[in-house]
Amino acid sequence: MSEKLFKVIIIGDPTVGKTSFVQRYVQDSFKRDYKGTVGVDFALKIIKWSENQTVKLQLWDIAGQERFAWMTRVYFKDANGCVIMFDLNNKNSFLNTLKWKKDVESKCTLPDGSPIPCMLLANKCDAPAREVEQMEIEDFYKENNFIGWTETSAKSGIMVHDSMRFLVETMLRQSDGCKIETNDNSFNLKSTAPEKSSCGC
Ligand code: GDP
Ligand code: MG
Repeated sequence: MSEKLFKVIIIGDPTVGKTSFVQRYVQDSFKRDYKGTVGVDFALKIIKWSENQTVKLQLWDIAGQERFAWMTRVYFKDANGCVIMFDLNNKNSFLNTLKWKKDVESKCTLPDGSPIPCMLLANKCDAPAREVEQMEIEDFYKENNFIGWTETSAKSGIMVHDSMRFLVETMLRQSDGCKIETNDNSFNLKSTAPEKSSCGC
C-alpha cells in the first residue's frame, strides 16, 4: 500500500467561493484542523485512489487573508498543486487570476524547477449573472499554462470532485517523474458531464 501526501493551495480573490469549495469537497471526510495563526485554514481529504494507493490532500485555504502579501511565502512553500478560482459573475475576479498565477510562478516551483500544476476554476456557474464568456476563459487558460479549467459550483457540487480528481491525477503523474506539458496534454473539463446537471452549466 503506498501513500502520497500532496499540499494543494486554493487561491483567488475574496468571496469567489474558495472556502465553500473546500468544504464541499472534503465534507465526507472533513477535518477542519484549525484556523492557524498565519490565517490559514487546513483541511485534510483522504482518498482511496486504488487498491494499493492512498492519496492524502492537505488543502490550504487562505481564509480571508487574501490581501496580506506577508503570508504568501509560507502559504506557497512546498505546494504540489494549486487551484486558482474566480467567480463567473465577477469579471474583475477573472482578470485578477493572472496576478495570482504570476504570484504562484514567482513563489513556488517543484523540486525539479518546473511550475506546480494549476487548475483554473470558474465558480458559481449556478448563478445567472454571468460576466465571463467561455471562449475568453478557454483562450486565457491556454495562454497562461493552466493544466485545465472547468466551471464549478461549490453550492450545487458541480464539477467539484471531477476537477480535483484531474489535479490529483496530474500530481501523481508528476510525482512519478513525468513532465507535464500544460498546453499539449491539457484537458478541458468544461465539456465533460457534470456531477449533477441541475443548473445547466
Ligand atoms: P471565499 O472568500 O473565496 O472563501 O468565498 P466563500 O466560500 O466564503 O463564499 C463567498 C460567498 O459566495 C458566500 O456567500 C457563498 O455562499 C457564496 N458562494 C460560494 N460558492 C458559490 C457557488 O458555487 N454558487 C453560488 N451561487 N454562491 C456561492
Ligand atoms: Mg474563504
